[in-house]
Amino acid sequence: GTTGGFSGVADTDYAQEEKRKVSQQAFQKVRQQLGLTYLPLLNGEYVNTTTFVDSLNPSNFNQVVGKIGLLSIEQAEEAMKSAKSAFPAWKKTPVKQRADILRQAGKIMEQRRAELSAWIVLEVGKPVKEADAEVSEAIDFCLYYADEMERLEKGVIYDVSGETNRYIYQPKGIAVVISPWNFPLAIACGMTVAALVSGNCTLLKPAETSSVITAKFTEILMEAGIPKGVFQYVPGKGSQVGAYLVNHPDTHVIAFTGSQEVGCRIYAEAAILKPGQKHLKKVIAEMGGKNTIIVDESADLDQAVVGVVQSAFGYSGQKCSACSRVIVLQPIYDAFVERLVEATKSLNIGETELPSTQVGPVIDENAQSRILEYIEIGKKEAKLALELPAPSQGYFIGPVIFSEVPPDGVIAQQEIFGPVLAVIRANNFQEALEFANGTNYALTGGLYSRTPSHIAQAQADFEVGNLYINRNITGAIVARQPFGGFKLSGVGSKAGGPDYLLQFLEPRTITENI
Ligand code: GLU
Repeated sequence: GTTGGFSGVADTDYAQEEKRKVSQQAFQKVRQQLGLTYLPLLNGEYVNTTTFVDSLNPSNFNQVVGKIGLLSIEQAEEAMKSAKSAFPAWKKTPVKQRADILRQAGKIMEQRRAELSAWIVLEVGKPVKEADAEVSEAIDFCLYYADEMERLEKGVIYDVSGETNRYIYQPKGIAVVISPWNFPLAIACGMTVAALVSGNCTLLKPAETSSVITAKFTEILMEAGIPKGVFQYVPGKGSQVGAYLVNHPDTHVIAFTGSQEVGCRIYAEAAILKPGQKHLKKVIAEMGGKNTIIVDESADLDQAVVGVVQSAFGYSGQKCSACSRVIVLQPIYDAFVERLVEATKSLNIGETELPSTQVGPVIDENAQSRILEYIEIGKKEAKLALELPAPSQGYFIGPVIFSEVPPDGVIAQQEIFGPVLAVIRANNFQEALEFANGTNYALTGGLYSRTPSHIAQAQADFEVGNLYINRNITGAIVARQPFGGFKLSGVGSKAGGPDYLLQFLEPRTITENI
């Protein structure tokens, strides 16, 4: 194997007082802009809408972060028409030019880093340090996919005497991107710029709860020089505008990150050929996980405790990659649980604007009540080992740990997407692996061990897309840990990896006799 040679941008070092000051100033500036209205971008113009929705600050839901104009079906149809008419020119635009627009967008995001982080913190309740890392990831996606398209553009040439054979890639056509709220900038940006740099006209429909940040991303793409109609920002109801675009006969690619339920529905709907449709749609769906860390008796427990706490409670467990089950071997079970509980008690919960905060609120009221229901179920099927109090203002839930969780229990099987961790006991390593593989998902997984045979066995048999050994299982970095899962965690190749752009491209072979 080779190393890619790509190196990503650096996160902010909040240990520097100067950087903390820049961050505080950015918050002040952003706070003065709260409550503004953001409209959809159709064919290069912001258009008015008849319905609006408020995007609220999850830490303080009396605060309206922005008002979002929601697209009607008629407007969605207009967007589709604009995309279609912009496609021939975009397809022919030199790859270098398309790639440079991404690089320019990356540069603008770097300049606006502190401000973008502040928007992420205020709109989706992500603690600032993680919001900053998310801005880095978004920039990395721009720079990496720009490089990747330039690599792929070369294609492959197979020459024999008297005959030239060229294997080349062309864009598929129109891409619909449906992005999640939990990485409102990085994932929206990653899916969108991948589609764009590959030459597809792209419509971005964000999750309602993160539409303001997506509007900021839209401003950035415009400033970077994306031509009108090539990129359009189409906020709307998933069940209406989202479904309309998924079902549209002119859609070629759907890139989705979100729940398993919606992902499966999109996959099914996209498979149905519509009148007038002359191609089959490609679906890329990233749909969540029920991720496990195994801790065996040879593990460095200090390291394991830190890694589990970070993986389980970072961004309140609201990452697809989050650890929601830890399987601990019998000899160290009790000692591990005790240390895990102690370490979790020392987390900083609350003020998302401070770089030292690790746990903020959950995204909204629905999430809060769903998670609280799971906690009640947990209290019936397992032993409550810790339930931390949380601030009463905002949608906070303090970290919760259950021990003695049966491996087939509800809280051991269903994706909770909150700060709730199930600790499961296993008698031996073989059993631990069986429990770990015993879910419908296969996204991330981890192992803490100093036993070479266990490490080797996990590499072979631990069924996950991203396996992390002796470290935390979240925070994949572009072009270092290409990210994505299989089974009911998703279909498609890994984001930030060498196969990702291929999904937006149509390969062709051209043979010429001379
Ligand atoms: N890529 C993120 C990580 O490695 C998770 C993305 C997601 O939650 O969808 O933590």
